[in-house]
Amino acid sequence: MPAAPGVPPGARVAPSSPGTYNRVQTPKELPLTTSDPKAFAQAQSQAAEHPPYLWWAGRVTPWEDANVHLTMVGWSAISAVFEGIRAYWSPQREDLYVFRLDEHLKRFQQSIRFMRMKDPYGPEGIGGAICELFRANGYREDAYCQPLAYMGRTVPGYIAAEDIPAEVFITNRAAPSNLGQGKVLHCCVSSWARISDNVLPPRAKAITNYQNSRYVSNEARVNGYDAGIILNDRGKVAEGAYACIFIVRNGVAATPPITAGILESITRDSLIQMLGEMGIPVEQREIDRTELYLADEAFLCGTLMEIAAVASVDRYQLSNGAMGPVTQALESRFLQIVRGQDPKHQDWLTAVYAKATAAV
Ligand code: PMP
Repeated sequence: MPAAPGVPPGARVAPSSPGTYNRVQTPKELPLTTSDPKAFAQAQSQAAEHPPYLWWAGRVTPWEDANVHLTMVGWSAISAVFEGIRAYWSPQREDLYVFRLDEHLKRFQQSIRFMRMKDPYGPEGIGGAICELFRANGYREDAYCQPLAYMGRTVPGYIAAEDIPAEVFITNRAAPSNLGQGKVLHCCVSSWARISDNVLPPRAKAITNYQNSRYVSNEARVNGYDAGIILNDRGKVAEGAYACIFIVRNGVAATPPITAGILESITRDSLIQMLGEMGIPVEQREIDRTELYLADEAFLCGTLMEIAAVASVDRYQLSNGAMGPVTQALESRFLQIVRGQDPKHQDWLTAVYAKATAAV
């Protein structure tokens, strides 16, 4: 065909009708696939439902009013850091207890600082906002909260920049506790390695780190496991995709050290203290992959996951495949603590309603 007037020979000509040019399928037309349709449907309906308010740019904001321009969506996430915080409802005292709020606020500050952002609110400001948002949405059940700091309108997120004021938003949602349900997980050791301190430091709770977790978790699910365990760049056990790990061998608990490529987990810290109080020796040491196969017990722990017993690793069953006695004892103590029934660890809880002003 001869070239159109003014068009160099060989150049492509855009079709005249915009409707036929690279037409992109709308989400409704795209086939939705997942290895676990039930989990996917649940995640979808959770995403569709939302509470009336979130907290953004210094105030409780109606959910529908929290909009940013589309051009912000991609790059703003590159330096974004966040926290995941649980709050437990106490039916006896009719109050909501945020678990280890101070420690989460501290880690949030560390992550922000690490990204060379500046937090305009400070820990008290964010802590107050977290409680304010729980009250605004009126949670009287177990709930979960995520503060997230990102580089906002000031600069494209991929450019080196220092002391940029972070923009912060906080969301929360209902999240019933799984504690006390005897849940066990079948795990595999992932073929992916854990990101390391000189690549993408796992110590910062950065959004970008979670691509590593997604690779691990997707691989595990596609291959028929519940969760993946990741080895670090030295080939030693690091953690689960979204949780830390403990094993128990001959009455001694062990967990990888904070230099093993882990997030410095607040649940891990709590359980180390609790194991000590329960008279169970606990070592923070390197763990070999094969120790996972030979352990009497193993469990994953994290804010959202809480404490989940590992029944098998790479189809090696641990003991009788049920939750072991140490895990069980730890879990029931943890449940008492988070619901405010253990006098020893009241200082781990921040009351949202009754003592809100005093505690925050
Ligand atoms: N490691 C990773 C990668 C995580 O995402 C989490 C969950 N925050 C944990 C460990 C556990 O940390 P924490 O106990 O502070 O929730």
